[in-house]
Amino acid sequence: MKFGGTSVGSAERILQLINIVRQQSEQTPVVVVVSALSGVTNLLEEACQKAAAQDESFKAVVEAIARRHDECIGSIPFSPATSSKLIIQVREPLQRLGEICKGLFLVGDLTAKTKAHIMSYGELLSSRIVAAAMEHQGLSPVWIDSRKVIVTDSQYLAAQVDFEETNKRIAESITSDSNLYVAPGYIARSHIGEPTTLGRGGSDYTAAIFAGALNAEALEIWTDVNGMMSADPRLVRDTITIPEMSYAEAMELSYFGAKVIYPPTIQPAMAKQIPIAIKNSFQSDHPGTIISGIPDHGPYFVKGLTSIQDIALLTISGTGMIGVPGIAERMFHALAQSSINILFITQSSSEHSICFAVTKADALKARQAIEHVYEYELASSRIDPVEVESDLGLVAVVGDGMRERAGVAGKIFSVLGENGINIRAIAQGATERNVSFVINQNNVSKALNALHEGFFLSKYKTIHLFLLGAGNVGSTLIKQIATAQKTFLEAGNLNIKVCGMANSRQMLLDANGLDLNGWLTTLQEKGKVVNLEEWKETIKRFNLQNSIVIDVTASEHVSEIYEDMLASSVHVVTANKIAASSPFVRYKKLKGLALTHNVKFLNETNVGAGLPVIKTIRDLILTGDRIHRIEAVLSGSLNYIFDRVGSDGCIFSVAVTEAREKGYTEPNPALDLSGKDVMRKILILSREAGLPLEMDDITNKPFMPSTTLEPEHWNELLPNLQQLDNRFEEERIQLATQNKRWRYMATLDEGKVATGLEIIDSTHPAYHLKGTDNIILLWTDRYAQRPLVIAGAGAGPDVTASGVLADVISIANV
Ligand code: ADP
Ligand code: ASP
Ligand code: MG
Repeated sequence: MKFGGTSVGSAERILQLINIVRQQSEQTPVVVVVSALSGVTNLLEEACQKAAAQDESFKAVVEAIARRHDECIGSIPFSPATSSKLIIQVREPLQRLGEICKGLFLVGDLTAKTKAHIMSYGELLSSRIVAAAMEHQGLSPVWIDSRKVIVTDSQYLAAQVDFEETNKRIAESITSDSNLYVAPGYIARSHIGEPTTLGRGGSDYTAAIFAGALNAEALEIWTDVNGMMSADPRLVRDTITIPEMSYAEAMELSYFGAKVIYPPTIQPAMAKQIPIAIKNSFQSDHPGTIISGIPDHGPYFVKGLTSIQDIALLTISGTGMIGVPGIAERMFHALAQSSINILFITQSSSEHSICFAVTKADALKARQAIEHVYEYELASSRIDPVEVESDLGLVAVVGDGMRERAGVAGKIFSVLGENGINIRAIAQGATERNVSFVINQNNVSKALNALHEGFFLSKYKTIHLFLLGAGNVGSTLIKQIATAQKTFLEAGNLNIKVCGMANSRQMLLDANGLDLNGWLTTLQEKGKVVNLEEWKETIKRFNLQNSIVIDVTASEHVSEIYEDMLASSVHVVTANKIAASSPFVRYKKLKGLALTHNVKFLNETNVGAGLPVIKTIRDLILTGDRIHRIEAVLSGSLNYIFDRVGSDGCIFSVAVTEAREKGYTEPNPALDLSGKDVMRKILILSREAGLPLEMDDITNKPFMPSTTLEPEHWNELLPNLQQLDNRFEEERIQLATQNKRWRYMATLDEGKVATGLEIIDSTHPAYHLKGTDNIILLWTDRYAQRPLVIAGAGAGPDVTASGVLADVISIANV
C-alpha cells in the first residue's frame, strides 16, 4: 500500500492512513510505502538549488522544511518516550540537512549524487513519522530502510533497478515475523552504496518493486483522487473515474502525462499479474480504479486523455533520406547517446521527412546531436536544416477499445477541427491503443475538454456564451438562458455557461461562467468599461470549446467583431441585421469564414424574430428548390402600428409610442418608419434565396417625408410624428369604408425587390394579420400554385430571444 504526499500531509491524514492500513493488516501482511509530506520534495530541490547558486534564501527554505515536519509531529499527541525517539530520528537529520546545504553554499556546486542524497530526506523523515504514529495507535510496524534493499545503477536522479539483487534483498528483509512494514518510497542506493532516487514520483515504483518481489496479492496506490480519471482533473471539468483498465492502457496514460501513477510502476506488477488499485485516501470507500490483465468489457472504449505540455517538434527532411537505410538508426542512436527521451515519432511514407517530439528542455541538445550526426548530409544539402518548433503540447487518446473500431481517428480530428485546433503531427501506434497528436500549447486545454465531451466521457457537453447587448431582447434572453440551463442540466446533456456579458457601458468576462442571478447589478457594480477589442482578445485567450458570441445589439460597431471571431473559431449568433445586410462582399466573407473555420454564423432572428424563415429558405435551396417570388409583411412594429390605427382607430403617433414602449420597434423607431428595417430584412431573404443584391437595388416607397424622421432622439421625433396624425386619420376613415387595410409589404419578384406601404383588400392573405404578426409567402418550383406560408408573431423580446436561443442550442447539437 503506497500513500502519496497528500495522504501523509498532516496528523489528520496520517490517522486516516492508519485506519486504512489497520483494517488491511488485520487480514493479511502489509508493506506500507510512503512519500514525503506533500510539497517537501519540491522544497528540498529548491533548497539545494538555491544553496548551490549561493543564494542565502536557502536557509529560509530549510527552515520551512523543518517547520513542516515539526508541525506534523506536534499535532500528534505522542507519548514522551516516542517523542524523544522521534526527535533523534527527525530533528537530527534535519540539522544535517542544514549543514549540507551550508556546505553547498560554500562550494557553490551541486552534483547529481549530492542532490539525490538531499532529495532522500523527505521520504526518510515521513516514513519515520508514520511508523511512530502507527506505534502510537497501537500497531507494531517494522521500519525497512528501502536504501538497503533497493539496489540500482548510478543514474542518481532516475536510477535503474537491479531486480535480481533487489528482489533477493526484499525477500530476505520481509519475513513472516510481522504483519506490518513501513518503508520510505523513492529512495535507493547504487551497488557501491551511493544515494540514488527512482525519479520524481518514484514512490509508486518503490511500492511496485516491493509488490513484485513479494508476489503480493495486490498493489494499492492511495492518492488524493478517486482513481484514474478520464483526464487530468486539473485541466478538464467533469472527469469521471475509469473503473477498470488494462496494464497497457495505464502505461500509455501515465507515460503520456497522467501523473496519478509513475509510468515504471506498471511493469513489476504486470510481470506478476498483480492487480493495481488506485484509491483515494480522502474517500476510502470509493472503489477507485483497478488496473489488471483482465480484459474490460465496460462501456468506455476510450479510457482517457492525457497531455504533456512544453514540448518541441523537430523535423528532419531532405531528398538524401529517401530509400537510404540507416538514416533513422543513426539519428536515434545519436539521441540516445545524449540521453534524450523521444516522446513521439512520425515518418512520412515517402521517407522524405522524420519528425519527432522531445521536451522543450531537450530541444537544443537534440538539435545539436542531429546536426552533429548528419554533418556530412547537411553540408552537402542532402538533408535540409533541422526545423525546431516549440511551445507545443502533446495530447494522447488512449483505450484498448479503439482497436478495430473504425472512426475513432475521424472523430478525434473532427472534434479538433470544429474547435479550430490545427494539428502539427499525428502518430498512432500499431496497437491502436493510442492516438497522439501535437498541437499548439495554448490549445491543449481546449482540445482535452472538447475531446472529453466528444467521447462521452463528460456528463455534459458545455457551451460557452458571450452575450453582447442587455436591452429588451438581451435581458429576456438571459432569463430564458437561466431556465434552459436548469432544464438541460436536469436532462443531463448540456451545460450552458455564460462567460461574458456586456451592455453599451460595461462588460464582464469569466472563463468559469457568470452567475445569472442578479446579473444586472453584478454587471453594473463589477463590470469594466466596455471595450470590444479587449472583449475579443479575452474570448480568444480563454480559448474555450464551443464558444458562441451572441449579438443582440443594433450596433454597427459590435457587428464589426464577427470576422475576427469567426476566424478564431468562435460561433456567431446574431439578431443584429447590420452585417447580413451590409455590402454583399462582406456578407459572402462572413459565410466563407464560417465555412473555413468550421463554425456557424446564424441570424435566424434577423427576419420574423423567432419564426423559422431563414431556416426554411435555406432548406429549400439546399434541397434543390428555387425561390421565384416572396411577398411578405416583415415588420412586426409597422404591422402593429397600422393594425392599431386601421382596426382600432388609434391615433398614429400614439400607436408608434405604444409599439416603442412594448419593445416592438428598433431602439430608434425611425429605422422602422423609414422602411429601412424592412429593406434590410427582404435583402437578407433575397440573399438567402441566392441573389447577390445590395440595399441600393431595392425600390422603397417611403410613406412620410424623410425630414420627419431626421431627429435622432425620440422626444424630437414624436412631435414630428404628431403632425401626421390627421393625415392618417383621414386615410383610415376612407379605407374603412372600402373594407381595405394598410400593410407594409416587401416583395421579391424574379430578382426585383420593392418595399412600401400598400393598401390591400380582404382577399389578400395578409389582410387578417394582427398585432405584430409577420407573414411570408414563398412561391418556389415546388410551391408554384399556392405559396408556402409562414406566419406568426414577428417582433417582441420574447419571440426574438427564443429565436436566438434556438440558434444557440442548434450549435450545441445535443
Ligand atoms: P501522490 O502524491 O498521491 O503520488 P500525485 O500528485 O503524484 O499524488 O498524483 C495525483 C494527481 O495526479 C491528482 O491529484 C491529479 O491532479 C493528477 N492527475 C493527472 N492526470 C490524472 C488522471 N488521469 N487521473 C487522476 N489524476 C490525475
Ligand atoms: N516525493 C517524491 C516526489 O515528490 C516521490 C513521490 O512522491 O512519489 O517526487
Ligand atoms: Mg505521485
